[in-house]
Amino acid sequence: MGFAYIIEHMEEDDESSKVVPPWVELEYAHMRSLAGSGSQVHFTHLSQNSSNSLTEKFTKSGSDGQAEAVCHEVGVLDLIKERLGGDLEKVCLLDPKAEKELSPEDGDGRFEWFLFGGILGDDPPRDRTAELRLMGFPSRHLGPTQMTTDTALGVTKRVVQDKVALSKIPYIDHPTIRFNAKESVEMPFKYIVQNGEPLLPPGMRELLFEDMNKGFEF
Ligand code: SAH
Repeated sequence: MGFAYIIEHMEEDDESSKVVPPWVELEYAHMRSLAGSGSQVHFTHLSQNSSNSLTEKFTKSGSDGQAEAVCHEVGVLDLIKERLGGDLEKVCLLDPKAEKELSPEDGDGRFEWFLFGGILGDDPPRDRTAELRLMGFPSRHLGPTQMTTDTALGVTKRVVQDKVALSKIPYIDHPTIRFNAKESVEMPFKYIVQNGEPLLPPGMRELLFEDMNKGFEF
């Protein structure tokens, strides 16, 4: 039995392509494999263009081993009204500033939906999750260090579905992504470690290298 994950999209569309920026698309695709088959990932508050373009991309990439992806133009509160009769208590907001830490028991019926801010983290964080906090959801944190949204979803799934305690998941803080002997970039986030490497969305290393050469900085 899987869970439902909601990503409230809070970034602007890319100016030229008029759809979500490439970084966001890679993270959103990665969330489907992190959530795993039997679960659903709902992307809310998307522009019509982005909703259509993401739906097309998700359909093309198939579904084996991945969660079902559903794109919505409505925001998270409207989706909860539609699907849960507006019962916010069934939804857990993952919030770096929450009082309580997420635990495996949170997946034993207390929460069926887990909500994240679709925000490209800033360094230092600007607490844009506050916008969701004000909506009054129950919340849990995943430790003091900021994670990317896909990492936060992957960690949440391991805790509530695989019943792994937060402290037992292998992490790496602020990893340096090395592209070659001379070029690397330090990421201001905490990642899951897999085979000794930070678990990045497929295609993200290449995009980071491209952005670095365009002078992109946090
Ligand atoms: N720094 C950003 C957060 C970006 S991370 C901000 O301005 O709020 C994107 C989302 O991942 C957050 O909205 C939150 O839902 C989740 N997240 C990231 N790190 C987390 C943590 N340590 N605890 C709980 N949720 C976290």
